[in-house]
Amino acid sequence: MNILVINCGSSSLKYQLIDMDSKNVLAKGLCERIGIEGSKLTHEPTGKDKLVVNQPMKDHQVAVDMVIKALLDAKQGVIKNISEISAVGHRVLHGSKYYSDPVIVNEDVKKVIKDCFDLGPLHNPANLTGINACEAVMPGIPQVAVFDTAFHQTMPEKAFLYAIPYEYYEKYNIRKYGFHGTSHSYVSKKTLEISGLDPKDSKLIIAHLGNGASISAVQNGKCVDTSMGLTPLEGLIMGTRSGDIDPAVLQYIAHKEGQTIDELLNMLNKKSGMLGMSGVSSDFRDVKKAEDEGNHRAKVANEAFDYRVAKYIGAYVAAMNGVDAITFTAGVGENDGLKRAQICAYLGYLGVKLTEDQISIRGKEALISAPNSKVKVYVIPTNEELSIAQQTLALVH
Ligand code: AMP
Repeated sequence: MNILVINCGSSSLKYQLIDMDSKNVLAKGLCERIGIEGSKLTHEPTGKDKLVVNQPMKDHQVAVDMVIKALLDAKQGVIKNISEISAVGHRVLHGSKYYSDPVIVNEDVKKVIKDCFDLGPLHNPANLTGINACEAVMPGIPQVAVFDTAFHQTMPEKAFLYAIPYEYYEKYNIRKYGFHGTSHSYVSKKTLEISGLDPKDSKLIIAHLGNGASISAVQNGKCVDTSMGLTPLEGLIMGTRSGDIDPAVLQYIAHKEGQTIDELLNMLNKKSGMLGMSGVSSDFRDVKKAEDEGNHRAKVANEAFDYRVAKYIGAYVAAMNGVDAITFTAGVGENDGLKRAQICAYLGYLGVKLTEDQISIRGKEALISAPNSKVKVYVIPTNEELSIAQQTLALVH
């Protein structure tokens, strides 16, 4: 049984076709610059040559048509008939308070995705277009929506409410939602699986450290707190996002420079974080290289990133009154042993001790804490596509 996983961004579409019996990826690919000049499809069938198609894509409908064509291609395709796709799993950014589980898409689900356009203005419209495009080209094949916010719906009110007038929650559902839910869900389940901890009596901290970064506290298998908020801007320092900041900074800059709130939010989302602090790049490898070459701002950006992660770990240990395991995942968490060591250097008071050779662990599942560490520390590669496919399969099977 093959599941197609679709992840639509505002001008992009990522996809994977996964054989769920073997869990093998049959093909994956990316449509870039949708609706912009220079659109391109890169299709990578496993074990075959890559296919690159430079062709205008005016919208996500055209992109989906091109993806299906590539999957069916006589040379670089991986299926012969569209009926070999059993279901499509869509990553949908925002499900607000309405969805704590994946759902089979119907008109009511589409309405909720649409009602959440304000909450996810870049992603939710693209997600809905992707769903409609797949329905048009694959009539009768079930479409499943897997929400990035769903895993965090178990947070208690004390964790998700902002300390602002309650009427904003009542009128507009303003609250913390959290994101990267598919990753936090997948990695926390894997952590429970490989640690042998009792799922009903366990305290985990999952650090998803990539270009987008978030951290969550997972008690007894359920998320009890997470660092991202109403939008993905809150929390940790990220590639280009500031994370936590005093909102009064915005008023101050607005008055000094005459910027609008939209311009300021754009600055916090796209020009801040590692990029803004270092002035070098949003890519952690570039920032590290600059630090090694003596760039002071790059050094401070790296230190601030580690410090923020360590502070959140401390906060979540307090929230759960303890921690059994800490797991690092995503681009930085999976690959950067030095960063893991620098973050864990703050955690001596918890009895956290890493092995020396953890420094070289890259992109593979591993226990990286020393045998005498009081808390187990893991690296677990995230696999959001497989998780979406598994959740889709569970619903349609
Ligand atoms: P993600 O958003 O999860 O794809 O993570 C992207 C980030 O991971 C980029 O900033 C990369 O610099 C970082 N990254 C990937 N590989 C490495 C590596 N080997 N060492 C340090 N950072 C890495």
